[in-house]
Amino acid sequence: MATSNVLAGARVVLPTGIVDGGRVIVEGTRIAGASSEDAPVVDLSGHWLVPGFVDLHNHGGGGASFTSGTAEEVLRGVHTHRLHGTTTVVASTVTGEMDVLAQRAGLLSELAEQGDIAGIHFEGPFISPCRKGAHSEELLRDPDPAEVRKLIDAARGRAKMVTLATELPGGIDSVRLLAEHGVIAAIGHTDATYEQTVEAIDAGATVATHLFNAMPALGHRTPGPIAALLEDERITVELINDGTHLHPAALQLAFHHAGAGRVAFITDAMDAAGFGDGRYLLGPLEVEVSEGVARLMEGGSIAGSTLTLDRALKRAVTVDGLPVEDAVAALSANPARLLGVYDQVGSLEPGKDADLVVLDAEFTLKGVMRKGEWVVDPQLG
Ligand SMILES: [Zn+2]
Repeated sequence: MATSNVLAGARVVLPTGIVDGGRVIVEGTRIAGASSEDAPVVDLSGHWLVPGFVDLHNHGGGGASFTSGTAEEVLRGVHTHRLHGTTTVVASTVTGEMDVLAQRAGLLSELAEQGDIAGIHFEGPFISPCRKGAHSEELLRDPDPAEVRKLIDAARGRAKMVTLATELPGGIDSVRLLAEHGVIAAIGHTDATYEQTVEAIDAGATVATHLFNAMPALGHRTPGPIAALLEDERITVELINDGTHLHPAALQLAFHHAGAGRVAFITDAMDAAGFGDGRYLLGPLEVEVSEGVARLMEGGSIAGSTLTLDRALKRAVTVDGLPVEDAVAALSANPARLLGVYDQVGSLEPGKDADLVVLDAEFTLKGVMRKGEWVVDPQLG
């Protein structure tokens, strides 16, 4: 049950900077500006207090798939990520038959209505066969606006993002349609040139799906999508910071060029996140997870990650050497703004949901609160 708490003594990461020994007051499900007299004080000295994480792109966890699991299984996956600090998650699908995806949208939209997930991200089927990654080639199709429309209708207002290869026939019209309906058009699994990418951004695309992965590399005569996506102020770039998908120098390059306000750390997690090695299905494709790296059984493409956002943050600060406030913004404020929910989540400010994460001095997760309730009780030993 949500109660009142004063969280005191931590190094608190606020939108305005880091406050040593700051106080965050929780009243019911929200952060409050002032506390009632008798509210118990939780002493978080020696710890960090940061906003709950917001994951824009996530296919599952805890052995459960957002793309094929039952509602119960989806909730298990959501819970697994909450245990790792992700208090807001968008459920991502992978390429499938159109009617299967429409059905999926129906199930996920109910969970969104109940507040269990923040919405739906369709990754595919409108992606490039040249950059298909872990998507079924025979089910890929060109982005026909009428079909894009069917998917977002099936999601009953809960579609948040569609990843598409905008250079394909119908790509630009589909971007326009998505923008008109308030759905994020994300450029990804793409073989676009620099010029084609600029055209898609001008048409209304605002996100780069896992920048660097599943797109042409940056070339000095063929700068491709990466240069166009990094240089344009209108684009937020997703990064999978698991140590497998990106070299730390690529991550630094993205932060340097885009600036800390335009980066969103995502997990792109599949079922094995928070679960373990073994064999899994990603949509219709078989995946083997070994030492935490997911690869297709056939061909060996990387097939999503087993990342959780607490690890992405720890890595960003302790391995990549990012400033704490920049790493935290990439996990909270930036994705929350993109989703249009920054008035509710994404920072530790009065009036917002009491979604927060406690970390020790080494950035290991020690507590998670969602809407005023501890999901992971603070372990402060
Ligand atoms: Zn994905």
